[in-house]
Amino acid sequence: MPIADRECRQIVVIGAGPAGAIAAALLKRHGHDVLIIERQQFPRFSIGESLLSHCLDFVEEAGMLGAVQAAGFQLKNGAAFACGEQYSAFDFGDTFSNGKPTTFQVQRADFDKLLADEAVRQGVEIRYRETLTAVDFAGENPVLDVQREDGSHYSVQAGFILDASGYGRVLPRLLDLEAPSDFPLRQAVFTHVEDHIDAPGFDREKILVTVHPTLRDVWFWSIPFSNGRCSVGVVASQERFKDKPADLDACLHAFINETPSLSRVLQHAVWDTPARTIGGYSANVKTLHGKGFALLGNAAEFLDPVFSSGVTIAMRSASMAAEVLHRQLQGENVDWESEFATPLKRGVDTFRAYVEGWYEGSFQDVIFYPGRSDDIGRMISSILAGYAWDERNPFVAEPKRRLRMLAEICASTGS
Ligand SMILES: Cc1cc2nc3c(=O)[nH]c(=O)nc-3n(C[C@H](O)[C@H](O)[C@H](O)COP(=O)(O)OP(=O)(O)OC[C@H]3O[C@@H](n4cnc5c(N)ncnc54)[C@H](O)[C@@H]3O)c2cc1C
Repeated sequence: MPIADRECRQIVVIGAGPAGAIAAALLKRHGHDVLIIERQQFPRFSIGESLLSHCLDFVEEAGMLGAVQAAGFQLKNGAAFACGEQYSAFDFGDTFSNGKPTTFQVQRADFDKLLADEAVRQGVEIRYRETLTAVDFAGENPVLDVQREDGSHYSVQAGFILDASGYGRVLPRLLDLEAPSDFPLRQAVFTHVEDHIDAPGFDREKILVTVHPTLRDVWFWSIPFSNGRCSVGVVASQERFKDKPADLDACLHAFINETPSLSRVLQHAVWDTPARTIGGYSANVKTLHGKGFALLGNAAEFLDPVFSSGVTIAMRSASMAAEVLHRQLQGENVDWESEFATPLKRGVDTFRAYVEGWYEGSFQDVIFYPGRSDDIGRMISSILAGYAWDERNPFVAEPKRRLRMLAEICASTGS
């Protein structure tokens, strides 16, 4: 296409998931021109159904909270953990950071479509079923190659690109920015069931994380929805799957059958949906930004699903990037490293410390410790609610040291 005819847009966002929809809406609210290229048609399935309170702060900032609250999603007020007869619950209404007391458990197909529709309502343009295939950074502004559903291509020149392509990791792949994750290869197998849960004490307003009775690194999620259905999944390192059936439904059942407390919860479930799997999802990058682009959400780094932090990190990165980019477009000199990457990574590193502690066992000891003080419970609840950037919280300011100290106390008092 001759350069004179080429479409020029101020901001192009790759992907209309939570990171893309929130970033696009925030920039549009500042008056900028935003185009989202999304390769799928929404609604589309996505995993990541248990939200943290902190992500609603960004939904609110983007002017979408009313729509999310009106959508009838399952209210969520905390997180519960079970291991054998041990049970421990954390309440998002009683946290150190005093954030939002409740959030939601959502079918992501509906939730992501709602956010994307809200972004469109605010003036963002989304082109569905179009795929970003290449980017040329040789000129003053990047030029994107977009493939339409019929196989034809066109190019768009962008003032700035926000890559919110999730597991697509478009710019990390194209620009050789991928870096190995610190976490071993793990795999999840999951499905949705008609749950019929009537177990005494089961709390539909919390995600239930159940630890396998003998393998502490194997855990399950149960995330009830508001329509009587529940998302159920198992996470384990790949070697734990070796003695399990190759058939995904049989594999999930085999893990659950080894875990009596969860089998009891799900005893009346109707297994009407074929299980799916996703593996090797933890990922990292060499940099979060470069000339003319920044990486958001999973396109940058994904840690681990255990504390349901993915959507919150995605939205936080969207909000921070939108703010820096807005100032840049206003003509300010901005420093993406100190104003975006470094502060974003601080909270991600907090989550990382607790994820490491979970798999190594020390954070599980803390979670199931029966003598937990109210103050410590509030500080941990804060992190579980997503407030991992609140450095007034000692468990955020010094996560590793605090966790080590607490684990030693739990061990020495013989929990
Ligand atoms: C097993 C598991 C369980 C999880 N559970 C939770 C949970 O309970 N809570 C939670 O918060 N998080 C959870 N997560 C993490 C969560 O799935 C992600 O962190 C979250 O979806 C990231 O949002 P995003 O906007 O960055 O990317 P996505 O939601 O993946 O959106 C990216 C979009 O980009 C589009 N795209 C990709 N490539 C291209 C391209 N080339 N051109 C155009 N468009 C493109 C895709 O179609 C997609 O719609 C879990 C993850 C796993 C693996």
